[in-house]
Amino acid sequence: MFPSIRGLTIALTGAWLGTSAAALAAQTPTPVDSVRLLRNLSILAHDSMEGRAPGTAGSQRARSFLEREVAATGASAGPGGFARAFTWADGDGVNLVGIVPGRGASSDVVVLTAHYDHLGVRDGQIFNGTDDNASGAAALIEITRQVVARPLQHTLVVALLDAEERGSRGARALVASPPVPLERMAVNVNLDMVARTDGVLWAGGAYHTPGLRPILERVAAEAPLTLRLGHDRPGAPEGDDWTNQSDHGVFHALGIPFVYFGVEDHPDYHRPTDDFERVDPGEYVASVRTILLGLRALDAALPLGSP
Ligand SMILES: [Zn+2]
Repeated sequence: MFPSIRGLTIALTGAWLGTSAAALAAQTPTPVDSVRLLRNLSILAHDSMEGRAPGTAGSQRARSFLEREVAATGASAGPGGFARAFTWADGDGVNLVGIVPGRGASSDVVVLTAHYDHLGVRDGQIFNGTDDNASGAAALIEITRQVVARPLQHTLVVALLDAEERGSRGARALVASPPVPLERMAVNVNLDMVARTDGVLWAGGAYHTPGLRPILERVAAEAPLTLRLGHDRPGAPEGDDWTNQSDHGVFHALGIPFVYFGVEDHPDYHRPTDDFERVDPGEYVASVRTILLGLRALDAALPLGSP
């Protein structure tokens, strides 16, 4: 069904050679369950989610699905559960926040974010927002599962954020009522549009935090796609600096380092044609593997030093 997925190819080859699944998993440095990842992407991007606009039935459906999936990863919820409702001047939303305790003694925390809302239904057309940002939400779920299976040194907070498309309302709510004190947040890793790479994934943030550069360059050397650093330089031509283009901008404004993973705009960006069928499964899986590599590299390198 998805012949270009590397994981499937490996699994089939392994079965043919008589190798056990566990042995294969041990050989794969960044395991990702491609089938589950793509299934989750297709569900979030389905017409029945009605474009996941905040406060709609479609959003609620997407959130119910995501809440079950986050719980199934083994991540812990706060005392009130995963869901955290919030309001802003002209709307309300709900973030889903979980936590995966680290193995080490450091109090520093890594905050992994992805927004799950999109533009909803406009003029009778459903904006499914597959790349923007069902891709980041499904990636966050899969990465959380991998981190629960093999925890980081540092505690990981995972947050599926609502209402990014309304001005990062969910991210603002998260830092206004943070699950851990802000001073413990060592770095925000934000995923927004991570499927349609066309072979190139961008990592922003090193301009503002030069200590990130050598870490991300090492990740780029190992990545199963081309990972480029940039799109974070103030004063760049219009649209080239993505520092404030998504939820990581809220962390940046508070002085918290960020790494933003994302792709260049494409013709389906913010159009009703941002559909599941336009995602190349192999590209998406390679992107999620790269992000997981990046997350583990950051975890190993904290605290962030000077360049
Ligand atoms: Zn968007």
